[in-house]
Amino acid sequence: MYLPAGKGRFVAKKQGENYKLIMTKTVLHLDLDTFYVSVERLIDARLQNRALLVGGTSDRGVVAACSYETRAFGVHSGMSMKMARQLCPEAIIIRGNAGTYTKYSKDVTDIIKADVPLFEKSSIDEFYADLTGMDRFFGCYKYASEMRKRIIRETGLPISFGLSANKVVSKIATNEAKPNNQLKIDSGFEKEFLAPLSVKKIPMVGDKTYQILRNLGVRQIKTIQEMPLEMMQKVLGANGTSIWHKAQGIDNSPIIPYSERKSISTERTFDRDTIDMQRLQAILIAMTENMAYQLRRGDKLTSCIAVKIRYSDFNTYTKQLKIPYTSADHILIPQIQELFKKLYNRRLLVRLIGIRFSHLAGGNYQINLFDDNEEVLHLYSAMDKIRNRYGDRSVLRAASLGAKTIGRMVNPFNGEPPVVLAHRKQ
Ligand SMILES: [Mg+2]
Repeated sequence: MYLPAGKGRFVAKKQGENYKLIMTKTVLHLDLDTFYVSVERLIDARLQNRALLVGGTSDRGVVAACSYETRAFGVHSGMSMKMARQLCPEAIIIRGNAGTYTKYSKDVTDIIKADVPLFEKSSIDEFYADLTGMDRFFGCYKYASEMRKRIIRETGLPISFGLSANKVVSKIATNEAKPNNQLKIDSGFEKEFLAPLSVKKIPMVGDKTYQILRNLGVRQIKTIQEMPLEMMQKVLGANGTSIWHKAQGIDNSPIIPYSERKSISTERTFDRDTIDMQRLQAILIAMTENMAYQLRRGDKLTSCIAVKIRYSDFNTYTKQLKIPYTSADHILIPQIQELFKKLYNRRLLVRLIGIRFSHLAGGNYQINLFDDNEEVLHLYSAMDKIRNRYGDRSVLRAASLGAKTIGRMVNPFNGEPPVVLAHRKQ
């Protein structure tokens, strides 16, 4: 069984006659509890202990977050608001606000940034931090506990953490600790900790995979631990291999350091300098559309956008704007256009235009659930599916058709090559 907090240090491994102390990695996973719900309760204390749904408020809206009180009724996030309302009629429904959540997300990020040099922001309410080596000075568990206390004290938001030797075990530990608690799994006790849990607790096991495993009679992680790897491979392919390793508590995935400066960008230099506004607008829209798609493809959100103009006299100007986290074209395009309008004020020929998205965090466009309804979300995922298959210029806004070519990009997050049209020429 996993040890009580604060008792684990190094792992003693027998090597020949001697025992060697192996220092394992220490990975902290932090996750704000029902983040949108907690923020709404912070703003309006009357919402404490009440059943609360946050999301699109129209009948076609989607639940972006729900309080623990509603879960007993079978409500979960991603469900249509209409259904959630039927299941839990007494719930208070609040239309979320991406701007507010972005602000609180940044407050928490700043506290973590001040405390640990290496951390990953895997979504707007979730972080991984590498605490390896801190044992010697403070003890990782103590350090993490104090950081958690500080976040709660300074932001008023409940947060949970899991601490272990790798990302996946820490994340599962956080989920077991919730709500508003913490859990440490000592090195060497990962398998024991995971064994009794449902296979559904493994992060990459979605509804479909869960059904397949259930049909095989697999309920607990323990069963996967005892299965031969080959069997999982046979049933679930490459996913099976990954799930099998996770079930054993093995995970080597690295922490991807967060940096506000990390960005994706694209620019276009004209053969002949231009002042054709319609053409410039079309290119801006096409660039934004393409980059937003790149964000979604990499499961990323941006919260800082910039436009760059180089005039024919080679003077270059950039203007940037901090925005609520998003990866949705229909939100980004008007803001990029607005920035361009403010920036383009010299009435000179333009030599180059470019756009950049920075302050990236992991996350999908569910953040914009409040403004959208299911149709819009389905439209995005349908368009992206077509792009994944037929090329990133296979679906375009009419307004961007004027832009004949924009640079093709490799997936900036994993280096995958650009999706190129296989069936027809552009
Ligand atoms: Mg959370």
